[in-house]
Amino acid sequence: MRPGIDVECREVGLRDGLQIQKVFFPTQDKIRWLTLEAAAGMPEIEVCSFVPPKLLPQFADNKEVVAAALKIDGLCVAALSPNMRGAQDAFQAGIHKLNYVTSVSESHNMSNVRRTVDESVADFERIVALRDSTPGAKDIRLCTGLATALGCTIEGNVAVSAVLKLAERFVEAGADELSVADTVGYANPQQVKAMFEAVIDEFGKTVPISAHFHDTRGLGLANTFAALEAGCRRFDASLAGLGGCPFAPNATGNIVMEDLVFLLEGAGLKTGVDIDKLVEIREIVARNLPDETLYGMYARAGAPKGFVPASAAA
Ligand code: ZN
Repeated sequence: MRPGIDVECREVGLRDGLQIQKVFFPTQDKIRWLTLEAAAGMPEIEVCSFVPPKLLPQFADNKEVVAAALKIDGLCVAALSPNMRGAQDAFQAGIHKLNYVTSVSESHNMSNVRRTVDESVADFERIVALRDSTPGAKDIRLCTGLATALGCTIEGNVAVSAVLKLAERFVEAGADELSVADTVGYANPQQVKAMFEAVIDEFGKTVPISAHFHDTRGLGLANTFAALEAGCRRFDASLAGLGGCPFAPNATGNIVMEDLVFLLEGAGLKTGVDIDKLVEIREIVARNLPDETLYGMYARAGAPKGFVPASAAA
């Protein structure tokens, strides 16, 4: 956790939000977005994916984007990779944190990254070994994302025990952080509270636990609060709630960063992020993705009269 803040937010819009966009988001505007968001106080930004450009042309400029992000003082530069090859490229690019995603649900993992969960864990072990043996890479933190931890479009319910089992395998393999993800927006607050209590109880003393919520069914912020009550202090979100799912028409994306910061700051928890500066950045998204719905209630309604964010209080 960065000193002086109570909750760490991680912007994932440039990755989770852009990966489904057919329109190429210009490199210079990706850089402008992340630079302004870092200047607004965002401590960590997942800036891209390392996947073959053939598969996701949106990230063909990943090296350039990472290079620009690395110039920003104090910003934790994260990137996603689903496999060893991508991790190799990401390490070479000089990222600070790699997000490696595996679905708890076997069938979702197969359809998403085309391999079994066992194969994904084995690949992660090789990534840890690669990190440890690559000169200059030993400080790169490896975050394992547990996708579909709160429900799966193929298998339906996912058991807490299945999440704990996979989490344990990743921690044993050397994960530096666990991210529990409601990838498809199935979760409700009660379920989230039970899940995060179990995961934090089991692994909270060993590694930081973060939450990744989608607002697909409108419960994203309620789920955030439930995770907060369970002790989670790290949250992913995307500017303007960018994202969605290519297979689910009308599905919304990640929880909205501006609203997340409003929730946290209003609850007396310092994020170090200036909400109004975040709102200004939406213009870059609006201009480049004119057909995309921009979500967020704070951006629409503004601050309540007399509202003092925790970060601004003395
Ligand atoms: Zn996601």
